[in-house]
Amino acid sequence: MKMIRLSKRLMLRLKSAESVVAFTGAGISAESGVPTFRGADGIWAKMRPEELASMAGFLKNPDLVWQWYAHRKRVIADVEPNAGHRALVDMERLFPHVTVITQNIDNLHRRAGSSIVHELHGNIERNYCMKCGTTYANEAVLAAAGVPLCDACGGTIRPDVVWFGEMLPEEEWDRSLRAAQSADLFFSIGTSSVVYPAASLPLTAKMQGAYLVEINPEPTPLTGRADEFLQGPAGDILPMICTCAEQERRAMT
Ligand SMILES: [Zn+2]
Repeated sequence: MKMIRLSKRLMLRLKSAESVVAFTGAGISAESGVPTFRGADGIWAKMRPEELASMAGFLKNPDLVWQWYAHRKRVIADVEPNAGHRALVDMERLFPHVTVITQNIDNLHRRAGSSIVHELHGNIERNYCMKCGTTYANEAVLAAAGVPLCDACGGTIRPDVVWFGEMLPEEEWDRSLRAAQSADLFFSIGTSSVVYPAASLPLTAKMQGAYLVEINPEPTPLTGRADEFLQGPAGDILPMICTCAEQERRAMT
């Protein structure tokens, strides 16, 4: 593993920060082996994401969309949280407030053990009836042959994920925005920072006084505006940050 130098400014923040926000995207999941939409395999490689992840696509061909989600659900159930996810759990011992805001639907932050996780794009382990709102776990929907139907009302069940053209869940967004506004230290991790409104969170945090650190294998449109860019996989860099934070904060007491 390549050692990365942290700046003095970051070390000071690691020592004094009260509120830390980690904003995560597909990159941190890719390190666990979750394939990205564009990296889909087999028959799915030929499909456009909009055909599989939109209300129009679902209404046109619910069977196809459910086959895709059943496939995704099984792939994701087989992967494990990685060192990056676990480091964000460790941060809860080091800082008074740690909030994870994620654009990922794979539930890996919760499985790793993070206490506060705001899911901007939903969670593939949840499903709900489009007619009455009853929620269903994956076991129930994966046991169904074809499109799963609601036991309570017979309505069609859909995955609890945000599709193309849909609004972000309002409450999760409001909480995310508040967390960003009150952060001392904001990590933007494994996200290409281009999909709005989520992409506005790092800059909102910075404008309100947070020290903005980007962690990514490659530069993104955010890189030039971040206070610090740490190049590399989250699974290497986040544990290193935890080690430094631990040393800095221990020195304080
Ligand atoms: Zn129902």
